[in-house]
Amino acid sequence: MPRPIQATISLDSLRHNLARARSAAGGARVWAVVKANAYGHGVERVFPALRGADGFALLDLAEAETLRALGWGGPILLLEGCFGLEDLATCERLNLWHVVHDPAQIHWLASRRKPRAHRVFLKLNSGMNRLGFTPEQYRVAWQRLQELPAVGAVSHMTHFATADCEPGIGEALERFESAVDGLPGERSLCNSAALLRYGVQEPARREDPSAVLGDWVRPGIALYGGSPTGAHADAQRWELRPTMNLLTRIIGVQQVEAGALVGYGATFRAERPMRIGVAAVGYADGYPRHAPTGTPIVVDGVRTRLVGRVSMDMVMVDLDPVRAAGRAADIGSPVLCWGRHLDSELGIDEVAEPSGTLGYELMCALARRVPVQVV
Ligand SMILES: *Cc1c(COP(=O)(O)O)cnc(C)c1O
Repeated sequence: MPRPIQATISLDSLRHNLARARSAAGGARVWAVVKANAYGHGVERVFPALRGADGFALLDLAEAETLRALGWGGPILLLEGCFGLEDLATCERLNLWHVVHDPAQIHWLASRRKPRAHRVFLKLNSGMNRLGFTPEQYRVAWQRLQELPAVGAVSHMTHFATADCEPGIGEALERFESAVDGLPGERSLCNSAALLRYGVQEPARREDPSAVLGDWVRPGIALYGGSPTGAHADAQRWELRPTMNLLTRIIGVQQVEAGALVGYGATFRAERPMRIGVAAVGYADGYPRHAPTGTPIVVDGVRTRLVGRVSMDMVMVDLDPVRAAGRAADIGSPVLCWGRHLDSELGIDEVAEPSGTLGYELMCALARRVPVQVV
């Protein structure tokens, strides 16, 4: 019997979340962000559910190649643009649109000859200070692109540093609007957080959302049912559905006395006699190693907690609440690490939060050794 761990990707949930993103986007077109192998889900696996998007955004040229091989003929956007001059030939061959965020990328474009072969998104650094031209450099870069024969349409783009938290997007949006003021071209601003917090669905929003929505929105995490804010309650409020579950089983049971120490480093001490279950999941599967005692986990449909340290291939769980609910809590009992299974739901952000991380990191870190099933 294979080790009883399994991840499941739900195409229905992906479709549902894409529809949620679309309704928040008003009439704007939707890039499905599938970078990092579709946030750990697998580009090939999510493609049938996300092909209803208007385009795919990613940053790895191999993933763009995969989408073309799957038959996707629509827009593909390279979010970090080209990494070197040679990538421009790949963009021409695969018809990839690409971000221009640095003068070097403009310099490379100047050497291409095929007329209007490159559709580019010029990126403004609106305050995050990661990628993009400053507001002072922006118009010069735009003008330079206009003069290059190999460049076709130039669109405008920025990325928000604080769409998911305070102080929000106000100042960055102002910088963007003044930088692109009067310039022709499509606009793209929103990640999931901006789309959900400032899009058309948000009841708290009073102003017209069209400025922030622009022509294209770029949701990533929302498509995968994670919360861009890290708070599971937000994912629920936006009616996002988990698209990945991680399911395993109890493979061992220990009945321990009060005072017994559990796991590496003896970090957990039983306060009373306890039934401890050993579940077949560990950090080598992508379960966060820093998950502390108390991290929620579901056994036999009953919410309980992790106890002691996460090891490479196993975690220990408290089976007493499961027994108290009248379940067997024995070898073979199903264990839901995150996601949705039967009547149980455990938000990936609920698991990530006690470890000081986000659902993003957990889904991206799903290990290769975990078998994945698509439903
Ligand atoms: C990753 C990324 C997104 C999507 O972000 P989410 O928070 O997952 O919605 C959008 N735009 C850019 C430029 C990105 O790098």
